[in-house]
Amino acid sequence: MSHALLKVGMLGGTFDPVHLGHLRSAVEVREALGLDWLHMIPAPKPPLRDAPQVSPDQRFELLKMGIADTPGIIADGRELRREGPSYSVDTLAELRSEYGSEVPLTMIIGFDAFLRLTKWHKVDEIFTLAHLVVIARPGYQTPWPPALKELVGNREVDSTSALMQRPYGSMLSLTLPSMMAISATYVRERLKAGESVRYLLPEAVERSILQQGLYQTYE
Ligand code: ATP
Repeated sequence: MSHALLKVGMLGGTFDPVHLGHLRSAVEVREALGLDWLHMIPAPKPPLRDAPQVSPDQRFELLKMGIADTPGIIADGRELRREGPSYSVDTLAELRSEYGSEVPLTMIIGFDAFLRLTKWHKVDEIFTLAHLVVIARPGYQTPWPPALKELVGNREVDSTSALMQRPYGSMLSLTLPSMMAISATYVRERLKAGESVRYLLPEAVERSILQQGLYQTYE
């Protein structure tokens, strides 16, 4: 089967837990970029964070529940099956070899993640495998640090059509229609405090978290 006409994206994260900021962004970025498939890929042990309190498998179950039957969005557990630390560059290399060299492949990150991008493992290789799309997040309007300007160089384009002319190597900033000021940190804090998280998460995810008692106690 040929994948030549597909457009593919990857949205990685801790998803600790998945919330409507992730899910609505996934739907809107898929639409904005015309992606056939958007892989949402939870990291087992994020290299730049402390170990989360809820297990990788539990986070993945919540992610699957949150995505449910959303068209074109895939809950992709490949990083959970990998030994050692999970690096996005390795995941992009896997997706690239699965979909082939011609397919436009895009890594999507929020602006807060973009600000830390220069610390990522083998960051220079990312642009040899994929495009980068950075989505605006309420509360993060800071200018780009010089190291990021240097990393992006002249890769920036100003439209999705310019991005999709090549399989990899360009960068686009996007402001999606429904910017949501929801973070997993905020959700965890509210759960710990016994406060309502209704409408911050899909109802099925909320129900499962409350039933299992996740995030509701200090370690
Ligand atoms: P935490 O508060 O624990 O740091 P988070 O809410 O930022 O978590 P992550 O799992 O770290 O969630 O995020 C995965 C990806 O989704 C990152 O690229 C992040 O920037 C992006 N993202 C998270 N929340 C939003 C949101 N509300 N709007 C747009 N992008 C988001």
